[in-house]
Amino acid sequence: FVVGLAGTPPEAVDKMRPISQLMDLSPVLNEELLALSQAVARETFAFRISVLQTMLPNALKATYERVLTIVDEVSEAVQARLFRGLDQITFRVSDWSEEDIAKFAQLRRTHQIEQTIVVSDRAKPKTQLAYQLSTDIELLESAYHALPKTAKKKAALLGFILGHLGETWRKKVLQQQVSVSDATLNQAVQANWLAKVQVEQLRDPFATTTIAPSKPLTLNTEQQHAFDQIKLSADRGQYQPFLLAGITGSGKTEVYLQAAQHVFDQGKTVLFLVPEIALTPQMVRRVKARFGAQTAVLHSGLSDGERYDEWRRIERGDVKIVVGARSAVFAPLTNLGLIIVDEEHEATYKQTDNPRYHARDVALWRGRYHQIPVILGSATPSLESRARAQRGIYQRLVLTQRAGGASLPPVTVIDMKTMLSDGPETNFSAPLLEKLKACLARGEQAVLMLNKRGFSSFVMCRDCGFVPRDPNCNLAMTLHMDSHTLKCHYCGHEEPIPTRCVNCGSSRIRYYGTGTEKVAAELAELLPDARVLRMDQDTTRKKGSMDKMLQAFGDHQADILLGTQMIAKGLDFPDVTLVGVLNADTALGLPDFHASERTFQLLTQVSGRAGRAQKAGEVIVQTFNPTHYAITYAQQHDYEGFYRQEMAVRHAGNYAPYFYTVQIQASHTEENEAAKQMFQIARWLRHRVQADVIILGPSPKPIAKLRNRYYFQIILKFKQRTGLDALLTELQNRAQKAKHGLQLSIDRDPVSF
Ligand code: ADP
Ligand code: ZN
Repeated sequence: FVVGLAGTPPEAVDKMRPISQLMDLSPVLNEELLALSQAVARETFAFRISVLQTMLPNALKATYERVLTIVDEVSEAVQARLFRGLDQITFRVSDWSEEDIAKFAQLRRTHQIEQTIVVSDRAKPKTQLAYQLSTDIELLESAYHALPKTAKKKAALLGFILGHLGETWRKKVLQQQVSVSDATLNQAVQANWLAKVQVEQLRDPFATTTIAPSKPLTLNTEQQHAFDQIKLSADRGQYQPFLLAGITGSGKTEVYLQAAQHVFDQGKTVLFLVPEIALTPQMVRRVKARFGAQTAVLHSGLSDGERYDEWRRIERGDVKIVVGARSAVFAPLTNLGLIIVDEEHEATYKQTDNPRYHARDVALWRGRYHQIPVILGSATPSLESRARAQRGIYQRLVLTQRAGGASLPPVTVIDMKTMLSDGPETNFSAPLLEKLKACLARGEQAVLMLNKRGFSSFVMCRDCGFVPRDPNCNLAMTLHMDSHTLKCHYCGHEEPIPTRCVNCGSSRIRYYGTGTEKVAAELAELLPDARVLRMDQDTTRKKGSMDKMLQAFGDHQADILLGTQMIAKGLDFPDVTLVGVLNADTALGLPDFHASERTFQLLTQVSGRAGRAQKAGEVIVQTFNPTHYAITYAQQHDYEGFYRQEMAVRHAGNYAPYFYTVQIQASHTEENEAAKQMFQIARWLRHRVQADVIILGPSPKPIAKLRNRYYFQIILKFKQRTGLDALLTELQNRAQKAKHGLQLSIDRDPVSF
């Protein structure tokens, strides 16, 4: 990437290469995005190049087709002649002839060129055959008069050309207009009546779906108030983050859409972020229904080509609103007027690879740059955002009622400790099964969620629901069958697996975990007539399959939608009157201080799927921890109550939003070496940080070994960022220069550990 020119040549100028070719006629990143790349690099301790890579569609990144490495055996003479002495050479083979490639294959064999890495070609726009019609009236007319009477097809073609002089027609469309054969077209080309050309064909991922247009609804009082505040800030041209805290089904989406319309009326554009592909189909439909073809969609389910085309449409200013998941926050929209971050609490907004940016933070940065409103919407705002609203950094807007007049469904909590017998294992308590049967008998639909988030590898007392926690951090410990221990992956504390529960003395300690497939099989036995749609990572791998499944469910082609947490959010089906949560506890077992928050969010979100329209709904939650506050507050639909209690817990444990967290993780092929170097880093830090910075670890990561690398982490907790950023940047640079085989990365405010 050439991002600028220095006034004076740098020291190692002889090692630099000249720019050989300009790839793009205009820069692929504008001034804003270039500035943003710098800010993100600084904030995430990433290298700028990795941020630039993230900002561009895949298709624009692979600039070389093949990279070749040559081993020492290649004689210097050959090297000099063929490869100008370089040991690693990059070729562009796009303009090579067949002969060149054959010759090269021979060279590879004789000179033992070690490795050929094929990188995908840089995307080109997809083209289609088209015909440009001639403008030469004289030629066309004389040809017309010279035609024999029998040449009806040719006459028709010439007539069409004369009526559309100079126009470009795609072949398919042209043949629909005048039914001429390929042979006739070829003869017409020969005669210069028209010429073959290639035109760009945009790949539209929604080309095959039709979406009925929707009209704005009349806002209710709360929606109107929220809309007015956003409008005010848009009209003033001021940066203002809003926290739109609206219960599930309160009509947040309608507020987004009308705010977007207001911004379009000002001639500006909108960026609309959604957490993940799971939510995208229904949300995309709703945006497309309102704004039609002016909508661009960017999400990870697109092919590289589709993504590139959407990116180009945005860059050219052909679209007004971009809907997309995390990386869409870098969409090259100019003239931005509004940014919406739906379900702002979702962990998927944080990238877990370098650069470890949070899309919400990037959205706020862009909002400030453009001086516009940014709406963060959620039924269960993250504690961080809610706390910021408390301090007036965000303006809080509330929607407390369901928009269509429906009410929130009653939630029944089933204590599984009293339900399970020593008989055969079942995932269904009697009350849930009964409700399920009744729901299906009424001809209505049910959603069942099996929460699989996190690890199945934690232990729980079967009698009292107790999950062993570590004494230092009060976090659930992870089960390690190899060493027969429980470990805290936060601080490194380790202890043997208990044989008796420390809470109640029971010996019925077991590990928890079950799969959707198993549950589906059980359902087939319990309710043989029910039509069950199973939705999880396995059944939705194929592109578009999730959208199809949801459509099918919406069309009543199934009675029960059974899935992992991917079904918890955003789905809006009027006939769903029963929601069952099979195991509310799994997230509580996460070795992470977000465990309660995630549980509360998930239960609230999934409960929100029931009774959204005329028909009243209800929710059944199965749990071993019926008195846990995350579960009781979710049962009462009491976000504010949960917020207050959880803030007290965070305060006591020195967690966010009271403390910042930075996670330093590193991996090495040798376990000892990884540990040794991480201890050195911890010592290095201890000598340099201020006294109030808490340093935990190093300890092994929850997944301690991956692809033959050993992972360790150090956690820093601190109240003020002063000085620490510079220190961490220095650490990152040192690690980069030191060739000790340690791969290090620094993660600010990690969303999981
Ligand atoms: P949220 O995004 O807050 O979960 P939705 O936007 O999905 O809520 O709204 C829930 C339902 O209420 C939708 O079916 C929507 O069409 C309907 N709705 C939203 N606003 C209104 C309104 N002002 N009047 C009538 N119905 C509305
Ligand atoms: Zn611990």
